Amino acid sequence: MSIEKLKYVIDNNLLSSMYNTYIEEQKETISPKFKIVISDNFYESQLTFASKRQLEHLQNFDENEKERSNSFNGYLLMPTNEREEFIILLNPLTFDEQNTFIGTFHHEITHMFDYSKYMNDCGIISEEKMFDTEYYHCMYYWSEYHARKLGYTYLRKYVQIIFNLKQEEIVEHIKNTEIPTQMIHLNECTDKYVDNKRADIFIYELVLHYGRMIVWEDYGFKVIEEDIFPKQKLINLLGNASIELYNLLSNMNDYHNAKLKFKDLKNLIVQIDKNHSINNLYRFAMYNLSKQMSEILSSK
Ligand SMILES: [Zn+2]
Repeated sequence: MSIEKLKYVIDNNLLSSMYNTYIEEQKETISPKFKIVISDNFYESQLTFASKRQLEHLQNFDENEKERSNSFNGYLLMPTNEREEFIILLNPLTFDEQNTFIGTFHHEITHMFDYSKYMNDCGIISEEKMFDTEYYHCMYYWSEYHARKLGYTYLRKYVQIIFNLKQEEIVEHIKNTEIPTQMIHLNECTDKYVDNKRADIFIYELVLHYGRMIVWEDYGFKVIEEDIFPKQKLINLLGNASIELYNLLSNMNDYHNAKLKFKDLKNLIVQIDKNHSINNLYRFAMYNLSKQMSEILSSK
């Protein structure tokens, strides 16, 4: 099934027409060099395109980490000292009945534009130097939020067209299925944090949830203010900063205004991550940078 869909997408140049629509709607004026690779083994692909530094790191992956790499829907490989283009890896399994690839593809190109601008601003052309920049952590979390937001927005938009859905059907689906499912997941992430105290992982999960929650507002649901959102639990565990993060991110809608608020974002991250588990971020980022939603959105 996914092979037929993949063939259909390629034969009809769907990715390039979606790309052109994205550029137009997001008013992108830069043109990063990139290549799309459909890969059923992300770990092998990462090895293929890795820089020397990344290779050393990747070769130390244990079986769990390899398996985790291979479970991603999409992954963005940044330019390195040896390679100037971005590589967008797409998992063939995302070409499914739910059209998951649409969300994945838009998620990864959002990262690509975000990081291109950040690298330009920092005057760097490869990933290696990026980890040392002052606002790398901010960039990392903000771009995850942004990529989830736009990936989900475009998935919703195209799925509505493909399946000819009425607006009310989507609203019902969000209300009855997506919000409850996602809030269960957020609670599970919170419980994991209680066990492992990895605030870096938790913030990553949180900004992804916030990216989807901000889109739900367009459908009439301000979940952050609803009882189903585990607000008090978050405040108890991670302080008010974990909620303020939502308000801040909701005002960071493109790179231009996001970068003006990186300092505020850094403050919140430091408050939430009191134990500075953020120092693990390099290792974490290497296999998580473009992790896509593992749960597949139902299209109905
Ligand atoms: Zn991502």
